[in-house]
Amino acid sequence: MKSDIIKQADSVIASTYSRFPLVLTKGRGSIVYDADGKKYIDFVAGIAVCNLGHAHPRIVEAIRKQAAVLFHVSNLYYTIPQVELAAKLVEKSFADRVFFCNSGAEANEAAIKLARKYFHDKGEPERNRIITMKKSFHGRTMGTLSATGQGKIRAGYEPMLDGFDFVPFNDIEALGNAITSKTCAVMLEPIQGEGGIRCPKEGYLESVRQLCNESGILLIFDEIQTGIGRTGKLFAYEHFNLTPDIMSLAKALGNGLPIGAMLASENIAEAFSPGAHASTFGGTPLVTAASLEVLKVMEEDNVIDRCKKTGDYFKEQLEKLKEQHSVIKDVRGVGLLLGMKLKIPGAPVVDQCMKRGFLINCIQEKILRFIPPLIIEKGDIDNLITCLDEIFSKDI
Ligand SMILES: *Cc1c(COP(=O)(O)O)cnc(C)c1O
Repeated sequence: MKSDIIKQADSVIASTYSRFPLVLTKGRGSIVYDADGKKYIDFVAGIAVCNLGHAHPRIVEAIRKQAAVLFHVSNLYYTIPQVELAAKLVEKSFADRVFFCNSGAEANEAAIKLARKYFHDKGEPERNRIITMKKSFHGRTMGTLSATGQGKIRAGYEPMLDGFDFVPFNDIEALGNAITSKTCAVMLEPIQGEGGIRCPKEGYLESVRQLCNESGILLIFDEIQTGIGRTGKLFAYEHFNLTPDIMSLAKALGNGLPIGAMLASENIAEAFSPGAHASTFGGTPLVTAASLEVLKVMEEDNVIDRCKKTGDYFKEQLEKLKEQHSVIKDVRGVGLLLGMKLKIPGAPVVDQCMKRGFLINCIQEKILRFIPPLIIEKGDIDNLITCLDEIFSKDI
């Protein structure tokens, strides 16, 4: 049955993904099961999406309840869950206004459009270029791809859209030199996710904020991967002494339902006047009811504090492992956004882990990424550490 599904998939689905030969059929908490009933501890969580784990009873119930009442009308009308979710995000963040869409790329598209529109409305339409970072990842639409600083992702889709300039992450001097009278914003991930869990140097983000202030330009944080508790704070910017002007969210916001959001301060958000931007599905009652419940559960169950503690413990264990195995180059990350750089390719380690019942993921060829549900148990971490220890000792 499993091989039939895989065979059929390979004949009818666009081959954009190189998938593992694994058909997943159900999940609960930090566990997923494949079609043969084999159990896996999930350290991928749908790529930092299922922060409350799989089939969380309260999220399931929120979806069930809302689906039975109303799941889509149109943004021609007001709906209650959308307003409540926006109010919650505003209450919990620097922002005053929220625009809802359906994915990370769309949230970044909204951010890019808003930054340009803001200066257009101020009578400075020539201020339309955005500085982004090398090794960044902002999405796969033509706009966000053009903003993404990774050649391998852009290859084959040229010409890129104009309007983006690139500087190395963590290089404040390069950023200072790149800002011109045509720059409208700096856009970056506070911790680069797909680029390799690359953390900002002490004081870097504060200096970026200061440079933006001095130049009168906007600071956009892409918190699609870092947001919603992943780093041990609701938003990663809270680790630093600053706030951005615009922030994009997606991934864990719906714990698996597709939702994106672009948040902004009042004076900037004003540039999005009626008709300036839109999305048919953006913020449907169904997804916003689910997202609202996600934020409530995080709050009521202290999920973010727990993530911080579990993340610190996990990182310590990974560092101990590094002491024992010279093949490990470094351990990086914050909260439960953790990475381990190897001196060898990571793919065989991922395969060995899978055989032993653990899903992990490898980025940039040599970096193992650990992004489990924030509710993962210590025991599951201990078991993964034992498994990695064995693999590094015997199998690699
Ligand atoms: C995943 C991701 C995106 C793209 O999100 P999609 O929902 O896949 O469009 C953008 N930025 C960052 C930092 C991401 O991690």
